[in-house]
Amino acid sequence: MNKRQFLKYGTVIAGGLITANTGALGRIMADGSYPHRRRKAVLRLLFKPYELQLRHVFTLASGSRTTTPVVLTRLEFDGQFGFGEASMPPYLGESHETVLKFLSQVNLEQFTDPFLMEDILAYVDGIMPGNHAAKASVDIALHDLVGKIIGRPCYRIWGLDPGKTPLTSFTIGIDTTEIVRQKVREAAPYHVLKVKLGAGDDKIMINTIREISDKPVCVDVNQGWKDRGYALEMAHWLKDRNVMFIEQPMPKTQVDDLAWLTQNSPLPIVADEAVQTVSDLLEARGLYSGVNIKLMKCGGMNQAVKMAWMARAMNMKVMIGCMTETSCAISAAAQLSPLADWADLDGNLLITNDCWEGITIRDGKVTLNDRPGIGIREKVKIF
Ligand SMILES: [Mg+2]
Repeated sequence: MNKRQFLKYGTVIAGGLITANTGALGRIMADGSYPHRRRKAVLRLLFKPYELQLRHVFTLASGSRTTTPVVLTRLEFDGQFGFGEASMPPYLGESHETVLKFLSQVNLEQFTDPFLMEDILAYVDGIMPGNHAAKASVDIALHDLVGKIIGRPCYRIWGLDPGKTPLTSFTIGIDTTEIVRQKVREAAPYHVLKVKLGAGDDKIMINTIREISDKPVCVDVNQGWKDRGYALEMAHWLKDRNVMFIEQPMPKTQVDDLAWLTQNSPLPIVADEAVQTVSDLLEARGLYSGVNIKLMKCGGMNQAVKMAWMARAMNMKVMIGCMTETSCAISAAAQLSPLADWADLDGNLLITNDCWEGITIRDGKVTLNDRPGIGIREKVKIF
């Protein structure tokens, strides 16, 4: 080998060594096993059970209660925190026990990129069927976290106009005429009343309200009417008394009766119990003229915003509703309210121990703020 050849091979050998070294170094860094290198940030989930205290005994066609169990969640990524909530009214079948069991199976530490929201939420959804409130608590925390990393509220990330939020209704439960009068007076700041019917004398409820208020009313029967003839007669009677729409008038299983009622009713018929998820919405075509979308039914903001766009494409009215929840889940739902015709986001106003400060209601209208993510601030330290 002459000098020129030696220099040539030497360079190749040296080059090979440098390449090999770089490769080895690269593998060590990707593993995160190189001792002096920082480990890649991962998503970490914390959760705590909490009990909401209701201001009034809450009566629906299905029963009464004074508390609602919730679970509060916190998702951490690289020093940033996102917060979420699961609310479990008893009729949906989830409880502290089921949500804690579900969340203890969620391993988000496998994810190093919170922006892969579709993948992360598909993993969470695939852990077990159902458990929609538990899934929503992860989904909401993830949206809050990503919004905070970007530094923008979710409604801005979705391209929605905060000026287009709807009025929200204030719910009046089934009660004695004296309490109903008191609740209507309490609802003074709201421009729309939501009245629960279907468990007593419906006409007395409406007449009591109409004695002291001429505000528009929406009616929620919670599947309480069984006879379609009665339902249609009531729809006409309610229309004459400035009622805007009827929510879930009959049991969701009475499909033919509901289709007939929707076709003949002078008021829009809105699905609630019948439509929980995206696939339920597809089946509701022709049976209802609108849908009440709730984060706790569909599994969170990701599904809810898809349902809202789908319903609009199907020429159905959109309502954004809630359970009794803290300002965390309410503010999360409010992020998509510019897509809704009607909002029923009063769940945080019906409790006495809200641990968050979030969206507000101004002059009866859902009012979004500029805070990133879902727009909440801690009022009471939870985590
Ligand atoms: Mg309802």
